[in-house]
Amino acid sequence: MPITTRFAPSPTGLLHLGHAFAALTAWRRARDAGGRFLLRIEDIDPTRCRPEFTAAILEDLAWLGLDWDGPVRVQSEHLPEYRACLDRLSARGLLYPCFCTRAAIQRELAASAAAPHGPDGPLYPGTCRRLPPDERAARLAAGVPHALRLDMARALVPGLTFAEDGEGLIACDPARFGDVVLARKDAPASYHLCVTHDDALQGVTLVTRGIDLKPATDLHRLLQALLGWPAPAYAHHPLRTDTAGRRLAKRDHAATLRDLRAAGASPAGVRALAGMPD
Ligand code: GLU
Repeated sequence: MPITTRFAPSPTGLLHLGHAFAALTAWRRARDAGGRFLLRIEDIDPTRCRPEFTAAILEDLAWLGLDWDGPVRVQSEHLPEYRACLDRLSARGLLYPCFCTRAAIQRELAASAAAPHGPDGPLYPGTCRRLPPDERAARLAAGVPHALRLDMARALVPGLTFAEDGEGLIACDPARFGDVVLARKDAPASYHLCVTHDDALQGVTLVTRGIDLKPATDLHRLLQALLGWPAPAYAHHPLRTDTAGRRLAKRDHAATLRDLRAAGASPAGVRALAGMPD
């Protein structure tokens, strides 16, 4: 079966060389194998994503010489699909509403002697999981804003693994994430839910992405198992660093493709700078 890869940037800023490397990695893997390469815009978080960055990303990638198969999937145009996934999990009693504010969670964590940590920081202490049903119903009826959390103890599927390129099967430990948020108060669905839904829907067979997302794969495998989606293979690649060895990041104003282009760089020059010479 020919492979399908994808590049799935979040439009929170302009693309830099790290993105170019990630995009070219996915594109080359597909093209070298005669497979499909998809482009997906992960703009599910309205507090961080901006449409002008989406437009800039498409333009920069085309300038860089990438072509993609089929239409670009834009996550914000598919909110009912993610809602339906949340409803499926809810119907099985695997989600609960969480009314806690960030500050309340901080206070509770500060008061507990040893708050366990997961890949994304201290684990949620489970306050709203333990709410009496009538209190929960009253808050829902009153329209108190809430997130939706996965009840990890109920949701856990033992024995999950994923296939990592060059490493073979890796055992998953999704419990490390605790009761992870799958829908935020201010964002309709979480990255974890949307990415796994879309990879399944779009028939992605090989997920190439930065090694910073490797720990999240444990949780992605759990969501795939719970929702009956196939498991793609994974190839996590190193992150590009600057000359001082620091990870390239939008917030540090790493040179964007726009800057390089304005300074006269050619697409081939930028592909080489990104570590993917022709
Ligand atoms: N949208 C994510 C990001 O920009 C990448 C998601 C993925 O490749 O799984 O960091």
